[in-house]
Amino acid sequence: MTNRKALISGAGVGGPACAFWLARAGWEVTLVERAPALRTGGYKVDVRGAATTVLKRMGVHAAAKQRDTGMRQVTYVRRDGRRIASLPADLLMGRRGDDLEIMRGDLTRLLHDAAGVATVFGDSIAGISDTCVTFASGRTGEYDLIVAADGLHSTTRRLAFGDTPIDHLGGYISTFEVPNDLGIDHEEIMYTEPGRLLYAYAMGPGAPARVGMTFASEPLTYDRRDLGAQKQLLHRAFAGRGWRSDDFLAALDDAPDLYFDSLSQVNAPRYSSGRVVLLGDAAYCPSPASGQGTSLALVGAYVLADQLSNGGGLEGYERVMRPYVEKNLAFGRRMAKDMVPSSRLAIGFRNYGMRTLRFHPRKEQMIDKVLAPMHEAANAIAI
Ligand SMILES: Cc1cc2nc3c(=O)[nH]c(=O)nc-3n(C[C@H](O)[C@H](O)[C@H](O)COP(=O)(O)OP(=O)(O)OC[C@H]3O[C@@H](n4cnc5c(N)ncnc54)[C@H](O)[C@@H]3O)c2cc1C
Repeated sequence: MTNRKALISGAGVGGPACAFWLARAGWEVTLVERAPALRTGGYKVDVRGAATTVLKRMGVHAAAKQRDTGMRQVTYVRRDGRRIASLPADLLMGRRGDDLEIMRGDLTRLLHDAAGVATVFGDSIAGISDTCVTFASGRTGEYDLIVAADGLHSTTRRLAFGDTPIDHLGGYISTFEVPNDLGIDHEEIMYTEPGRLLYAYAMGPGAPARVGMTFASEPLTYDRRDLGAQKQLLHRAFAGRGWRSDDFLAALDDAPDLYFDSLSQVNAPRYSSGRVVLLGDAAYCPSPASGQGTSLALVGAYVLADQLSNGGGLEGYERVMRPYVEKNLAFGRRMAKDMVPSSRLAIGFRNYGMRTLRFHPRKEQMIDKVLAPMHEAANAIAI
């Protein structure tokens, strides 16, 4: 197998992982990434179940485990910052055995280094015709396979498939870096009030903290490229709210980065059209509420390359992935409902549960039961 040329759009998670597997199967691979360099900042993500097998087969699981965030505990606080309860992070997040939590940027770097393929930064696909791809830079190229791994709002998907519905799950999420004035040390601190979730975590008192602001809302109209407008939306949603809302909003104005997006899912009706195939969030974004998007992108990359090598082709990729994807999307929808409790009563129940849980002799089994659907979804594929 020689000279088959693949172009992969997006060097996030799915893109570099797919580059790794296609290159090993003999494809000549080019990655194109719109950002001027690898986007190595960002938030922490979980890798669970079948996806940990993919990391092992890539030979990067041990290195990823070494970069685990090492979060010790999750602490729920009241409006004035007083502690309600703390629980071990691994227990609450349901991490088992080989599962890990890693900063998305660290994972991207690991995957990209392992893939070792040519990467064009600062460019993107502008047009796809029967014979050739045109880039925003004006360059052109010919490829046998085009993989759209350019995320939830994939441009490549739009070029090849037209508009694909993005399902709004009732809220907006954001994350940005702030100085760690609280001295947070391997801990995640969470505060909720009806329709609002505010959290902050840091990997040591000397490291910057990451804040997350999530709020319930109907779909809003805003310019996705206008960070100033997104900051205004956060100010409107969190000004005068509890815990450190106003301090974090003040820090937001100087934050070096901001991720802001709707809490939403993509479930592409088809994963491929001609020689263009969708991968990761571009095809099946389960939403950050699921904690499964990274895992789907990793498993998808593996299955895609495997099916192309073993005769299943692009149809085989969709056939193998679809049931696993559907399980994870269903799980994501369920989690999105609980992510931001809508009433004081629901928050009161949750707080009571957290306060009493740590004294419960069978707390591990109780949490396992609650998280069983997550483990089921994470392992709902044989690879
Ligand atoms: C706050 C937050 C927390 C999360 N927590 C978790 C978690 O705990 N567990 C989990 O599994 N997942 C989590 N996720 C989701 C996870 O980050 C994504 O599902 C995962 O990164 C998807 O990988 P991907 O490669 O499909 O897309 P991305 O990682 O989004 O990568 C897409 C890449 O494409 C690039 N790009 C975009 N447009 C273009 C273009 N036109 N041309 C070229 N390149 C382009 C982008 O710059 C980016 O590098 C979380 C997400 C958020 C926002």
